[in-house]
Amino acid sequence: MNYYDYIIVGGGASGLMMAYRMSKDTFFDDKTILILDKNKKNTNDRTWCYWDLKEDEWDDVLHNSWNEIIFKSDIYKVQENIFPYQYKMIRSKDFYMKILSHISQKTNIIFQSENVKSIQQLREEAKVTTSNSVFRTKTLINSILFNDAYKKQTKYPVLQQHFVGFFIKTKDDSFNDTAATIMDFTVAQKGNTRFMYVLPYSKNEALFEYTLFSKEVLAYDIYKTEIEKYLESKNITDYEIVDKEQGSIPMSCYKFWKQNSKNIIHIGTAGGWSKASTGFTFKNTTKKTAKLIVHLKQNKPLSKFHKINKFWFYDLLLLDILHEKNHLGSSLFSQLFNRTSVQKILRFLDEETPFYQDLQVMLKMPPKNFLRALYKRII
Ligand SMILES: Cc1cc2nc3c(=O)[nH]c(=O)nc-3n(C[C@H](O)[C@H](O)[C@H](O)COP(=O)(O)OP(=O)(O)OC[C@H]3O[C@@H](n4cnc5c(N)ncnc54)[C@H](O)[C@@H]3O)c2cc1C
Repeated sequence: MNYYDYIIVGGGASGLMMAYRMSKDTFFDDKTILILDKNKKNTNDRTWCYWDLKEDEWDDVLHNSWNEIIFKSDIYKVQENIFPYQYKMIRSKDFYMKILSHISQKTNIIFQSENVKSIQQLREEAKVTTSNSVFRTKTLINSILFNDAYKKQTKYPVLQQHFVGFFIKTKDDSFNDTAATIMDFTVAQKGNTRFMYVLPYSKNEALFEYTLFSKEVLAYDIYKTEIEKYLESKNITDYEIVDKEQGSIPMSCYKFWKQNSKNIIHIGTAGGWSKASTGFTFKNTTKKTAKLIVHLKQNKPLSKFHKINKFWFYDLLLLDILHEKNHLGSSLFSQLFNRTSVQKILRFLDEETPFYQDLQVMLKMPPKNFLRALYKRII
């Protein structure tokens, strides 16, 4: 009773992507799988963007895509075609619907709305306690951040990528919808790393997201005022706000995966799958879930899944710098974009560059700060 071969705790991006991959692999056909989420996942609670090759597995739920991206600051501006990549946007509701409708055809997978209170490693299995029940499994795949241990430690700096976004619609055509502005640092920095993120998905519809990489989140009205000021500076005054989103994504090299145990693996943001230096998570999740499927099928220990790599250390150095000198973001990113091709930067952020290209990217940023951060990490 209440025993499942696999329990996925949290049916958001990573939990549902795991369930989707399991549903498509016949290995799992005779296994019982339970997904627990406090919500029914039938609303558009966020929008994900990522870059990938022109065709990828989420194309059927793509909301928009751009061939060009813009980077802007007071000292440098570039608009560039990012071929072979495209910058892509997915509305979470479309993603949830695609996966939920797919898994509803599988009799071995159940999605249940439950508020999960805790998860626990027992001697030989894991236990999930919800408001109504207790469930047990040999393999618990968890995507809920149950504690803020990452904030309480001091070994690894913690920033947040925090933002408020307004989806706005203008009466007249107002936007160039061929390019996505991934960072516009021309906004006042106020001692932080602050930028506007602008995604025009038609000639009169766009997402404007006021974003910071910094330690403390702001009062809601501050993001709102900054978006309004920015729109005004672009002479966009006649618009309606059709939707809003807000988020705060941990940016830290804290080893979330150290909490993995014999029968519990943490995935998604809770598993450290958010790229520490950018907060991007979606693309990483597509890669890691595919790897985790292979790992599960080979019945390897869950604690052996995570492999630390050189990019973890690069992210650490950047976070060390931005944690200590948060105002440097605009100048660091400007120098990077000024001196490196956008494709190479994207490949580097995807953690797919060989070491000599890592150096080509990193040495384009002022070395003084990196050498100082490196020195402090190795002594
Ligand atoms: C507004 C927003 C926009 C983002 N945009 C991007 C982007 O453009 N690109 C990108 O790469 N990343 C983006 N991210 C970061 C990241 O991709 C998302 O947060 C992503 O959803 C993380 O996936 P996850 O599975 O870790 O967590 P989630 O998708 O948040 O899934 C966790 C699930 O757990 C459920 N849950 C939580 N607590 C409980 C509980 N007690 N009981 C039961 N269920 C519970 C939640 O309902 C949720 O469904 C964004 C984040 C936010 C918040």
